[in-house]
Amino acid sequence: MPLREWLKPPRKLLAILSLVTLVSVSALAWFGWKLLDQERAVEAQRARERLEQTADRAVAIARGTLAEAGERLGTWLIVPPPEGKPDEGLLLVMADGNLSASPRQRLLYRPDPAPPADDAAFNDAEVLEFQQAAPGRAIEAYRRLAESTIPAVRAGALVRLARVLRKTKQVAEARAAYLRVKDGEVGDARVGGVPAGLIARHALSEFSGSTADAALLKQDLLRGRWPLTRGQFEYYRSEAARLSGDDAAVPPAATAISDVVAQNWQLISQDDAPRGQTTVWVDDHPWFLIWRSVPGRKAVLIVRPESLLIAAFATRDVDSAAVDGEGRVVAGRRSANGYAAVRTSAETHLPWTLYMSSPQFPSAAGMVARQRFLLLVVTLTISFLIAGAYFIARAIRGDLAVARMQSDFVSAVSHEFRSPLTSIRQLSELLASDRVPSEGRRHVYYETLLRESIRLQRLVEALLNFGRMEAGVRRYRFELLDTAALVARVAAEFEPQISASGRHIRIDGCEDACKIHVDPEALSVALRNLVDNALKYAPDCPTIEVQWGIERAQVAISVRDSGPGIPASEKRAIFQKFIRGSAAEAANVKGSGVGLAMVHHIVAAHGGNVTLASEPGAGSVFTILLPLGAERV
Ligand code: ADP
Repeated sequence: MPLREWLKPPRKLLAILSLVTLVSVSALAWFGWKLLDQERAVEAQRARERLEQTADRAVAIARGTLAEAGERLGTWLIVPPPEGKPDEGLLLVMADGNLSASPRQRLLYRPDPAPPADDAAFNDAEVLEFQQAAPGRAIEAYRRLAESTIPAVRAGALVRLARVLRKTKQVAEARAAYLRVKDGEVGDARVGGVPAGLIARHALSEFSGSTADAALLKQDLLRGRWPLTRGQFEYYRSEAARLSGDDAAVPPAATAISDVVAQNWQLISQDDAPRGQTTVWVDDHPWFLIWRSVPGRKAVLIVRPESLLIAAFATRDVDSAAVDGEGRVVAGRRSANGYAAVRTSAETHLPWTLYMSSPQFPSAAGMVARQRFLLLVVTLTISFLIAGAYFIARAIRGDLAVARMQSDFVSAVSHEFRSPLTSIRQLSELLASDRVPSEGRRHVYYETLLRESIRLQRLVEALLNFGRMEAGVRRYRFELLDTAALVARVAAEFEPQISASGRHIRIDGCEDACKIHVDPEALSVALRNLVDNALKYAPDCPTIEVQWGIERAQVAISVRDSGPGIPASEKRAIFQKFIRGSAAEAANVKGSGVGLAMVHHIVAAHGGNVTLASEPGAGSVFTILLPLGAERV
């Protein structure tokens, strides 16, 4: 419906309806918005609570892990851990000045100086070797010492013996001496602070020139086979690299813990507190040191803080971070977004402050889904409301239009009744008072009286018929009829009233008998209405044509005039009851607006239909199409 139509009266009613709709829609939208807002706040609160719970859980787990590490350390202080333990980091146990590392390969070099070697036993032999330049006698002296029962003396003697033998080019014998050292005859004894076994392995690799031997030596060095100082480690590693031809550098991760130990040696070796823990940074990496000690023994565990916090930080979708006193992140990831649950080390007695935040905070996936659903409900409700308001307004408009049409109908029908009644009354008065000028005149008056009363009767019958049709109780009595006869009869009915004005109805149809199976009375009414309309709305058209024939297996009866025509926008509407078109208004013709509706009803009841071909200004052709009578008989 165009806007212009909407703005027609009753404006007040429509304004109220629009206002009510607008207020309801706004209220609903506001309510929806508030609900969403509230939902968001509640969800944020819930997310916050979840984070707080996660933080509490993380603190409890971290405390448990630390306590467990401390307990295990207490045990290892007394009983050494099984091979390969601990799984993470490095355990150092210092007992009576001896340092042992577990697992051994994680400590490639250590800072503790080797105990000074007791070299007094070799004094005499070394005088022979160096000062008196008597290698033969020196060899003898060393051989004697090589049979000593003390492993350290045996080791020192064998290494020195091999040295003199090498100098005197007795390679095979020197090799034999080194092999004795290598084969473990001297245990872990050191010579000049260097493990005798390592000296022997190095020398034997040199003798053999085998890269495989050198590679094995390198492998053993990287497995922490011998306790070495950093200098010794570097020297023998470079020697092994030279001999094996493989110069690959040691990966920094392999020496990381050794560096931690080296850089914090003072703390590790000297702090005598029975228990302690601290976080240290080495090469920009954090390390956690925890220790237990009893007089004469101390166990230190060195681990990455993150390995202790794995379980505590396991919650999905939460960014967890442990931060030291200086604000540096020692484990996890600290996200900068939104709300974070914080547990300070002061309140938890943990070595770090814990931060927990959720990257999705506060719009978790569930929240987004709920918001979408709510939005959908609100949008749908608003759409229903608007659609409802539209249909109510349409219905009101429709009802008002019907009411208006009915009042128009009543006034039009009254007018239709009034004019024949007025002439009947005037003529009856003249006749009753015997004021008729001549016999001829009297005859004319009687004829007029008859015509007007017939008109009145037709009008009443037409209205009654229409009422019956509308109620669906109109009965039709079908019979086989010749179309030409029907058309001729209807046309003849109009002749007396139009002949005076010089107008004429021309009938024309196919010559063969054109039978139709119809109710003659009803179809006459339909045809009469069409002819009557043509006469009414085309007053300047002298000839109205009524034609009949067969069109596509149907009988077509058309009424043609060359009047004002009918605009396209009215072509459908004028077949509805009480609807009157622009032609009626233009020609100021009174009518009830039920004529065409009746035509439509009657023709439909006969199984046919009515078509209209018309152009404004070019006349109109109404055609009744009916099934051929022969088929129906
Ligand atoms: P009424 O004639 O009482 O108005 P109808 O249902 O017979 O009612 O016709 C409906 C409307 O159709 C008329 O008001 C008129 O505007 C239009 N109409 C009908 N026949 C013609 C015609 N032959 N030429 C122009 N307009 C017509």
